[in-house]
Amino acid sequence: MKETEPKIYETLKQQEERTPEEIKEGLKVDFERLLENLNSLEKQYSELKKELSLDEKGKTMVIPKEHEKKFQESWENVIKRIEKETDAFSDWEDTGVESGLILGLDEGNYVAPVEFRKKTLLTYLYSIIVRGNIGGRAELDAVKLYLKVPDFLKLWLAIIKAGPGSNILEALDHELIHVLQHTGEVHEILRQPDGFIEGLQTLEMMKNAENKAFQNRALNEMHAYKSSTAISSKRPLTSELIKHIKNGYKVKNIDQLTAAADLVDKLKALGLDDTEIGRLVEQAEWNKKDATWGALNREVGRLGSKYKLETEDVENLVLADRMERKIQSLKAQIIALEEMTKVAESFKDSAK
Ligand SMILES: [Zn+2]
Repeated sequence: MKETEPKIYETLKQQEERTPEEIKEGLKVDFERLLENLNSLEKQYSELKKELSLDEKGKTMVIPKEHEKKFQESWENVIKRIEKETDAFSDWEDTGVESGLILGLDEGNYVAPVEFRKKTLLTYLYSIIVRGNIGGRAELDAVKLYLKVPDFLKLWLAIIKAGPGSNILEALDHELIHVLQHTGEVHEILRQPDGFIEGLQTLEMMKNAENKAFQNRALNEMHAYKSSTAISSKRPLTSELIKHIKNGYKVKNIDQLTAAADLVDKLKALGLDDTEIGRLVEQAEWNKKDATWGALNREVGRLGSKYKLETEDVENLVLADRMERKIQSLKAQIIALEEMTKVAESFKDSAK
């Protein structure tokens, strides 16, 4: 049994019919309580952080061989506690990233097989000439990450620093979300016997395939970025994401990006998971006249009228959802810090 409070949309789902008066009054979100909660967690986090003077980058920290087992056990405890005491892993249920934390990132039970490997020369050329830097790639039924498999200590430090939606975990979840969008279909065009890209002989061919394959890229990427960074204390601003996708993925249509961000935020706040959003993303078509993404916009409308929500109610839900997820991130960060402090202190004692 989880020890977490129900989220606002969960309460909304369980609610009996609201009376016309209640509907008129609008959805009550207790922002004051959310803010209080956030502030006290932030305070607790920064105090704990002062206690343990960690190297921010975690690059210089090495565990002595004889202590490895103890660290490993504490790390497992971190995961168990986060799972039990928070809701911070909820966004990972669809992609299976949580299992990777326990079993090792290269051994997780993901929604599709994940391979950690080096970039081939052509992928490298492609990434510098056609696109921005590529950290990973989702194919029809597999994900490739161009990274070394990080050890648990790196993951631990990443969670301490920014929460679950941080760093390498974000990159992995991002690519797996593309699998949930089934955008692999378009990768068929790019797939060759040797795998992606390798079979494409010229950069011109790469560029053409790229244009053909990613007509809905603004939406695909915005969904993957929004969801993979949702539970993080360093969640990027929408404006930063727009800029990042516009430059890194050569998306020209800013309206498409803005609408995608708005709709994904709303659907997540209304309680949809990434499998459900992925399905909508797969079906979505850009409606130029109304500057919106068809399937997603219809779903926001349908849920809004089902729960009898005014536009303002939905906007409040989005704000509250943002705060709720930040609270979950901070709780996870505090647990990770507490356990790190505990294990560090136990060595201090034994050294006396
Ligand atoms: Zn992507």
